[in-house]
This record gives sequence, structure tokens and C-alpha cells, in this order.
Amino acid sequence: MRAAVVTAFDRPLTLEDRPTPQVGPGQCLVRMETSGLCHTDIHAAHGDWPVKPGLPFVPGHEGIGIVERVAEGVTNPAVGQRVAIPWLGWACGECEWCIKGWETLCPHQHNTGYGVDGTYAELVVASAKFVVPVPDGIDPLDAAPLTCAGVTTYKAVKVAQVGPSDVVAVFGVGGLGHMAVQYARIAGGTVVAIDVHEDKLDMARDLGATYTINAAIDDPDIILRELGGADAAIVTAVTPKPFEQAFAGMRRGGRMVMVGLPAENTLTLPIFQTVLQGITVTGSIVGTRLDLAEVFELHAAGHTRVVRTTRRLDDVNEAMKAVEAGDVDARVVFDFRAPAS
Ligand code: NAD
Ligand code: ZN
Ligand code: ZN
Repeated sequence: MRAAVVTAFDRPLTLEDRPTPQVGPGQCLVRMETSGLCHTDIHAAHGDWPVKPGLPFVPGHEGIGIVERVAEGVTNPAVGQRVAIPWLGWACGECEWCIKGWETLCPHQHNTGYGVDGTYAELVVASAKFVVPVPDGIDPLDAAPLTCAGVTTYKAVKVAQVGPSDVVAVFGVGGLGHMAVQYARIAGGTVVAIDVHEDKLDMARDLGATYTINAAIDDPDIILRELGGADAAIVTAVTPKPFEQAFAGMRRGGRMVMVGLPAENTLTLPIFQTVLQGITVTGSIVGTRLDLAEVFELHAAGHTRVVRTTRRLDDVNEAMKAVEAGDVDARVVFDFRAPAS
């Protein structure tokens, strides 16, 4: 089976033919139909973060496919079922965090496309308990971005406790941000979308943003303060500066949720303003299996729209460059069903 492999942090991915992976206890084998390209895969391929993946590895954690085989004793999912393979590949189910509904914080978790081989491959093994069924009627090309970009921002909107009278600033309108705009609207918020590309701002307006700010031209913090300040901010951008701008644009008592994971890992926050203005600064990492099931439910009911362009896995390196340049409408999705050219 064909897979895209990271062999070194300073080299392009290579396309390899690999043997079909072995299905271990509690696992299933999934034949990929589609797989989204999350900016996390680019960070992974570059070794951007303090904890680096072991080399070589297969990235990808927005995988959608059909279950082809299951280990002995596995009854769910069934062979033939369509499932999603998310970033949270496995969690222990026994620790404090798993038990209290925060499996995404499990210290023993396995991460798809990082700690274990991911979904840039025709065949992928996954934990049967951690794949999530994709409801009938959802296009696999839509289901892929929902599996990380969707669930992550859906959860971030919950963490930000967005309510109907809230002004919500969404920094970065890429794969994650274009979904954040929609979930913030569903929660009743008034959305201010911020990006450095005008076409992304046009898309944000189409998806329900009331205000847009081009941070390459204007100062988002000044404009946010003119609007009364952000009650909530969801920051998905990939450099530290937008995090500082988000903080400076908060309303008293506001909640700033950090979601983006820039390679440059340091942010300076003023203590005095945080304390006197009672601002909450928090992080949010993906979402649980239940959050993802809710994301699929909302999409199946017609409440969200996924903006994506389709590529073949062979074009993975060009696709990553396009995402880094901001040259993609929201999400690239690899389609494994497309005939080889
Ligand atoms: P993306 O490349 O699709 O989107 C990033 C967006 O930020 C682009 O639209 C870009 O134009 C915009 N941007 C760049 N500079 C900006 C600036 N100065 N101000 C405002 N916007 C700016 O990336 P993505 O796939 O949406 O991922 C975003 C980040 O979120 C990555 O760091 C990724 O690793 C991280 N991520 C985190 C989680 C989590 O659970 N916390 C999950 C998935 C991804
Ligand atoms: Zn992701
Ligand atoms: Zn656990």
C-alpha cells in the first residue's frame, strides 16, 4: 500500500510502497477514502514542536475510510462501516482525565500521525474504540476536515463558553478558523474574523462573520476594542503575534482560547491587565469522540459547510507548500479514490 512518509525534518515527504499493516488486538484496518491536510502535519513534518515524532513516520489525522478487517473479538466498528480516524488515536480509559470526560488530556494517549503512523496511507490500523462512525449522508471529503479542524474548533467554542450576546474574535480563517466561525455563529455569537489574506476574509463573511479585519493592513486589537472588545477569542494562527493581538483586543472578563501551535513557542502576556481585567487565557486540544460525533451530527443536519480542495496524495509536498503560503481555500483533502494519473 502507498503511504507518504516523513524521513527527516528537513526533507520533503517520500511516497513509498509499504506492506499492509498488521491488525493488533483491539484494532481495525481501514481503507482510506480521504484524508485532510492539517497544519499540524506540517509542524510534524518539520519537527516544529518541543516533543518531536520518531522518524520515519506517516503523518495525517483526518482520515476517513471503510473498515476492511477487525481483530478477533472486535464487534464495533463492523467491517464495511465508514469511520473517522482522529488525532486522539487511543487513550487509556482509566486515568483521572479519561474518567472525568477529558480523554484528550490523557497522559498515556497515542496521537495519530505523530506517535503512531497516520492517515496519509491507503491502509491504516487504528484502535477500534477510538474510530468514530461517520453518519450516512456525509461526504467523505467533508468528513475529513471535520475530524480535526471541525472537532477542535467545536470544542474551543465550548471551552470559550460562547453565548448569544458574545463578540467572538476568530484569528486565522484557515482549516480550523473557517469552522470556528461557523460554530461560534451556531452558539449565537457575533463573529469578527481576522486573517492576513483578503480571500479568507471573504470566505469568513460567506460563512457568517459580521466583521472582518485584515491584520496585514489594520491592527486587530484596536478595531476589536472599538467594537467593545472580544468576549471570546479563538486563536488558530501559526505565529505568536496574533495571540498578543487577541489578548489586547479582549473585553473585561473575556476568555481567550489558544488553539494554534506556532513553532515559535513563547508568548508575552501582561500580568497587570490579565488580573485587573479578569481575562481567562486557556488552551484547547482537539475534542473527544463525543465532540466529534456531535460535529458530524451538526453537519448531517446541514448546519455547517466545509470549504476544501481535493488533491492526490502524490502531491503532498506541493500541497503543504500551498498551505504554508496561505494559498488554499480552507482545507486540502487527499482523495485516495481518484484514479492514478
Ligand atoms: P491553516 O494554515 O489552514 O490556517 C492558518 C490561518 O492563519 C491561515 O488562514 C493564515 O492565513 C492565517 N494567518 C497567518 N498569519 C496570520 C496573522 N498574523 N493573523 C491572523 N491570521 C493569520 O492551519 P490550520 O490547519 O487551521 O491549523 C492552525 C494551527 O492550529 C496550527 O498551528 C495547527 O498545528 C494547530 N492545531 C491545533 C489543534 C488543537 O487541538 N489545539 C488542532 C489542529 C490544529
Ligand atoms: Zn489537526
Ligand atoms: Zn487516560
